Amino acid sequence: MSENGEIYRVAGPVVTATGISPRMYDVALIGEERLMGEVIKIEGDKSIIQVYEDTTGIRPGEPVIDTKAPLVLELGPGLLKGIYDGIQRPLSVLMEKKGNFIERGITANALDRSKKWDISIRVKAGDSVKGGDIIATTMEYGLEHRIMVPPNISGTVAEVFPGEKTVEETIVRLTDGTELKPMHTWPVREPRPSKERLKPDIPLITGQRILDSLFPLAKGGTAAIPGGFGTGKTVTQQQLAKWSDADIVVYVGCGERGNEMTEVLTEFPELKDPRNDAPLMNRTILIANTSNMPVAAREASVYTGVTLGEYYRDMGYDVALMADSTSRWAEAMREISSRLEEMPGEEGYPAYLASKLSEFYERSGRAISLNGALGSISIIGAVSPPGGDFSEPVTQNTLRIVKVFWALDTKLRERRHFPAINWLTSYSLYTTTLENWYDENVDPDWDSLRAWAMGLLQKEAELQEIVQLVGSDALPEDQQLLLEITKLIREFFLQQNAFHNVDTYSPLKRQFAMMKAIKVFADSAEEALKRGVPLQTISSIPMKTELARSKFEENPDEILERIIREMPHEMANLKEVI
Ligand code: ADP
Repeated sequence: MSENGEIYRVAGPVVTATGISPRMYDVALIGEERLMGEVIKIEGDKSIIQVYEDTTGIRPGEPVIDTKAPLVLELGPGLLKGIYDGIQRPLSVLMEKKGNFIERGITANALDRSKKWDISIRVKAGDSVKGGDIIATTMEYGLEHRIMVPPNISGTVAEVFPGEKTVEETIVRLTDGTELKPMHTWPVREPRPSKERLKPDIPLITGQRILDSLFPLAKGGTAAIPGGFGTGKTVTQQQLAKWSDADIVVYVGCGERGNEMTEVLTEFPELKDPRNDAPLMNRTILIANTSNMPVAAREASVYTGVTLGEYYRDMGYDVALMADSTSRWAEAMREISSRLEEMPGEEGYPAYLASKLSEFYERSGRAISLNGALGSISIIGAVSPPGGDFSEPVTQNTLRIVKVFWALDTKLRERRHFPAINWLTSYSLYTTTLENWYDENVDPDWDSLRAWAMGLLQKEAELQEIVQLVGSDALPEDQQLLLEITKLIREFFLQQNAFHNVDTYSPLKRQFAMMKAIKVFADSAEEALKRGVPLQTISSIPMKTELARSKFEENPDEILERIIREMPHEMANLKEVI
């Protein structure tokens, strides 16, 4: 089936070949060393190939093989705990073979060929099966791995083979002779089909107050998080990985400097899953692009990540995919585009930057899969705008696509306000679609409370300008009270310490109780102020201090409940000055 040609020209990661007649995205093997590449452009008799490995020393005239097949991923049990490069080669195997420096031309199976999985068959002879149907299950480190018929296959079961199997052994044979195995392959650039897309009306609960309460992300939704150096990008991503109510975490790391990725590779395997104290890696797949890997592999890595995510979505799981950072991905596209001598767009990025970004984010979603299971894939893309300038093309184009924006802010970080997410510039377009869910599952007052808090924070921002000119003492007392309340919102509610064992995760009911307690304070304080109680007396009431400390106590819920109940009496007992 394959076809042989030869190299015509080499320009960094881009190789032009003649003598082959490929289709777009066919995998080609380049040079004597058979480096892997993908056809990304066809111009007459010239095929332009992006190569996933370093092309130094490769010369015109060397052979090129068109494999006549697209780049595919291996999907099956054993993906979890996996650490892969951008084209799903397991890093551990690559390093074992060649030491720390990954050399060229290495092929390595993504899935372990020798490991045996205990397979339970879910179908019997005579059953008709179609693409997506679950034919068998096995336990993958605590998670039920549901083995599905590949989307494009259907037929009648002839025979089944349960028991201990490797990923390549037949578990179901169809009457037409098709053999189904625990593993199947899928083209990386092709979205996996599902039956129906659903409205994103269930939140991805993260236990992070500013996210869940003010700027919620829906399961199957998209969010962007700009991560300038030291603003808390890593901490936030890890909090999401640990705490969000997703079953599976896929983390695509595109680091520029080598150590950024090394950090992820050393830190992630050490994270504990708070649900069962087991390693978080048991339900995580890491895709790592270290700085010494070629840009083309980085370009492919987000598709690899999202395809793996879709596979688990199809089993009926909720997947959280984090791409860190999409700026590095865009830079890879820019480099390849310039090698192709394409007309550059804004700041040298290719004109198709926007469409590539939206193609990626569009693979998110909540869906009914072909087998009827309900799953989702939520995409959280970190962006690293140079110098924290959000007007650059990657941030701007991302903002046009994603529905949630969590703006990490250098000024907040300098004030040690963590998570340093700016509440004035961040937004979520899911608040309306999620309203019903919060009403039914948390409290009917959720939305009005949220609107109230947001309103006050905006007023505070307006007042701050005056305060900076004349000081807060010059403000009327009701406005000074407003500043007291927003201080509580900021310091008690929005600040959340990722490293404190209680504060690190706030269940939704507690988030609501915390905000409600602030509201009760605000309402009763306002009343007391109207009655003539001095602001000084109001703001030094012991229960306010107790409230502020409650989030660090062993059992905040009991304390909050009591404060909500008793605060109005305490406030009513304050003496007015006549
Ligand atoms: P980045 O990845 O953006 O360079 P990090 O995530 O490493 O930044 O965060 C830098 C530092 O900020 C952390 O080491 C930590 O001290 C602090 N930090 C960030 N977020 C939080 C948080 N939610 N709670 C406590 N500290 C935080």
